[in-house]
Amino acid sequence: MDVRSDAVVLFGVTGDLVSKKLFPALYELTRRGRVPATVIGFARSPWDQQQLVTAARKSVTEAGIDVDEDVFEDLAGRLSMISGDYADPETYARLADALAGAERPLFYFAIPPAVFDAVVEGLKGAGLADRGRVVVEKPFGHDLASSHELAATLRGAFAPERTFRIDHYLGKEPVEGITLFRFANAVFEPLWNREHIASVQVTVAEKFSTQGRAGFYDKVGATRDVLQNHILQVVALLAMEEPADDTQEAFQAAEAAVLRQAAALSPETTVRGQYEGYRDEPGVATGSQTETFVATRLTVDNERWAGVPFYLRTGKSMPVTSTEVVVEFKGAKPGTGNLLRFQLGKKDGISLTVQVKRPGADVTAQTVSLAVDFDDVLEPRREAYERLLDDAMDGEHLRFAREQAIEQEWRIVEPILDLESGVLAYPQGSWGPDEADALAGGWA
Ligand code: NDP
Repeated sequence: MDVRSDAVVLFGVTGDLVSKKLFPALYELTRRGRVPATVIGFARSPWDQQQLVTAARKSVTEAGIDVDEDVFEDLAGRLSMISGDYADPETYARLADALAGAERPLFYFAIPPAVFDAVVEGLKGAGLADRGRVVVEKPFGHDLASSHELAATLRGAFAPERTFRIDHYLGKEPVEGITLFRFANAVFEPLWNREHIASVQVTVAEKFSTQGRAGFYDKVGATRDVLQNHILQVVALLAMEEPADDTQEAFQAAEAAVLRQAAALSPETTVRGQYEGYRDEPGVATGSQTETFVATRLTVDNERWAGVPFYLRTGKSMPVTSTEVVVEFKGAKPGTGNLLRFQLGKKDGISLTVQVKRPGADVTAQTVSLAVDFDDVLEPRREAYERLLDDAMDGEHLRFAREQAIEQEWRIVEPILDLESGVLAYPQGSWGPDEADALAGGWA
């Protein structure tokens, strides 16, 4: 294994991602003695060290962490700030001075993609790219062509083994657990195919709306924000063949292979929705056709899955926040198929519906659920960002998104990107337009 990163630089330290996810992750890593001596915040905003520490405390508190003062002071003592223009070589000269003793700094791009090129150039110019690791966030580009451009930009500065693409779903314990569940429970593997599975459904629902970020969201939409990355990533784990061995390469090959066999999505079998009131939010274009909800049908053309629909949906202003997979097995009679449900969100667990005898004189069936709540049976799970930041500092790639997979994901969604009409209104707090129910014949 390569050396562990001995410094972290957070580009865009004043932003939403650092506040919501990275400071809490750094706090937890500090508690476990996994944070390097140097953590540098980098931004245009003229913050001083005290403002940086105050922001870190606020975000750790807002994450619901019961702050241990010794741990926080330990983290605060490692923080420092560099303010300046992202395109100015002088800013990077100061950064290079601050990193003079660091052998393998980790550069975390918590910045809008529009700034990536400037930062890559700045790091190259200061001689920092040669020895650093880089972490970039989804979305990886805006479409297939721009994802290639991004890949080329990164490749021009950082070696592939020092480039980390975060799809934080891969850092979630229950998502990672899908493949283990499939391949470690021999009872399911013989049934995991078109003979026995009627459909697979994946839902990523967010109860909240754009949370004041409609200006940003209007250029993105639900397909790019969630379907292209998180949902297709989950599909790959559900549908892939068992890797040939337990190496990272075999895993990635199996994952890319199944994505290659997935057909590109069709506008005919896609429902795009927009919650009522969205167009009145600041930053949303007049008459915007951006979808805040998308439901679609994916097919995977291989021996295992031919003819099995994968129904996928995600949206904002839904009735609940939840991430769920439902594998619907074929039943002896209509409506009696067993449902295997993976809950992949904060409340994680697995359940399986089965038929039992309804009490009484007649022998008739009643559906009940065999359910396990992971909170009851497993040790606490670490947050995805904490795990991923830790892995990236170790140079460990297994839980990061792969270039070949990302490329396939863009190919799959390309036909439903940027459609100029057809977005259907839905009431806030509903499950999207009725047409989405019709598409899947009802969601389990
Ligand atoms: P923000 O919009 O909050 O921007 C982060 C910081 O970037 C800003 O505080 C700003 O700091 C700096 N910045 C530099 N140039 C610009 C510019 N031209 N426009 C706006 N800001 C600029 O981004 P997020 O923190 O939300 O996201 C960062 C990255 O992570 C993005 O690539 C995003 O796609 C990705 N991401 C974010 C998630 C989230 O939950 N927020 C989830 C998943 C991915 P300053 O002006 O001080 O330099």
